[in-house]
Amino acid sequence: MTFYPWQTEIWQQLIPARQNLPHALLLQGRKGVGKLDFARALAQGLLCEAPQPSGTGCGQCLACNWLAQGNHPDFRSIEPEALADNGDEGESKGKKASRQILIEQIRELAGLVNLSTHRNGMRVVLIHPAEAMNASAANALLKTLEEPPPHTLIILISHHAQSLLPTVRSRCRKLDFAVPPLEQSMNWLREQGVADPMPLLAQAGHAPLAALALAGDDSQEARRGFLNQLARPQTLDPISLAEKSEKMDQARMVRWLQQWMYDLVGWRLGGEIRYQPDFAAEIHALAPRVRLSQALEYQKELLTAQKNVHHPLNAQLLLEQLLLSYMQSMD
Ligand SMILES: [Zn+2]
Repeated sequence: MTFYPWQTEIWQQLIPARQNLPHALLLQGRKGVGKLDFARALAQGLLCEAPQPSGTGCGQCLACNWLAQGNHPDFRSIEPEALADNGDEGESKGKKASRQILIEQIRELAGLVNLSTHRNGMRVVLIHPAEAMNASAANALLKTLEEPPPHTLIILISHHAQSLLPTVRSRCRKLDFAVPPLEQSMNWLREQGVADPMPLLAQAGHAPLAALALAGDDSQEARRGFLNQLARPQTLDPISLAEKSEKMDQARMVRWLQQWMYDLVGWRLGGEIRYQPDFAAEIHALAPRVRLSQALEYQKELLTAQKNVHHPLNAQLLLEQLLLSYMQSMD
């Protein structure tokens, strides 16, 4: 496990200071830039018995093997039960599992204080994503940060650091993970076998791992079909489109609608297309028909839909309603 090319600078700041690391780090930045993989690489580098000159783990020693098998006694990864272990782009495993990090999960940390570490080394705890902690979990963590367990590094990973408790944030050293320069992301994605990375990067807000995840899923064709219908509101049939889309991921469809509206309004007001350069012609043609005040109301409606998307709702009805509102925001 290693860090990504665009993370070299942050890595090189941390590793020489490994003897003097703070008790807690906050890795902050948008989803899909590789914060979680960086944190895992850092954990391995710190726990490894024979680290490489670069500070990464050797991949050979007992500690590295334990980490690879997920049973290193001095490593903990705390995340919501509902998050599948598939990196920064973790999606829901099931509807029943909790989407929050609960207080019991944080309390487990306090218990670590009384345990000695393997060969008197360090202990590393990842909390991912930190904004998933509910209020009681966050308060329990605050207590832990006020009296940190010895030889322990707590790494918080957050896609929305502004929603963390300010008192938690202020007890961490913050590391900013920016979106890499476009060229670097394009090159990296090509190395991963993505032939045409630009449209995927645009959809992913230029976050390379999020773009890679899009390349690997089967949603692109459905997306094109969906956007083609949005591009022709005069012939759009909300009921049949909602019916056809019933089995699709609701969160994803709301995101497509949000990005589509963002680009329509963005083109109309500022002449910029951010998410759908592959639909530029359609957006140019449609943008003059956007009723701006309705469109702004509609964007609020989409934001509410996005917030509620994980609550059990009638998916088909919701999408029908969203498509109707969409049509009403066009001339
Ligand atoms: Zn090792």
